[in-house]
Amino acid sequence: MREIRVRSRAKRELIDITDEVAEAAREGGDGVWLVFVPHTTAGLAINEGADPSVATDIVRALEHAVPEEQAFEHAEGNSTAHVMSTIAGSSALVAVENGELALGTWQSIFLCEFDGPRSREVWLRKLG
Ligand code: ZN
Repeated sequence: MREIRVRSRAKRELIDITDEVAEAAREGGDGVWLVFVPHTTAGLAINEGADPSVATDIVRALEHAVPEEQAFEHAEGNSTAHVMSTIAGSSALVAVENGELALGTWQSIFLCEFDGPRSREVWLRKLG
């Protein structure tokens, strides 16, 4: 298993980790890779990386969908982040062919931070 460490800088942000995933996968070889975020207030998404305003809009839409002003029971006070990470999901499968990530032209891999800033991990495991 390989691991990427990511430092978030904001409470909520999408951080493009495509290059880090590509480097680890290149070293590990062709195949299908599981990209997994082992956190309950962060998630993983594959979406447009060419225009950074898309990542901003995704955060904005999640903030609209999951308002802070709710009668949550979780005493830690970060239920919004737990719900957002559930919506985003915690993993993705990506193919590596000829040493390159098989992604669409506009696709990037993002760590989705919902309760930052803090240090995060992304685990990479080649399947099979
Ligand atoms: Zn919590």
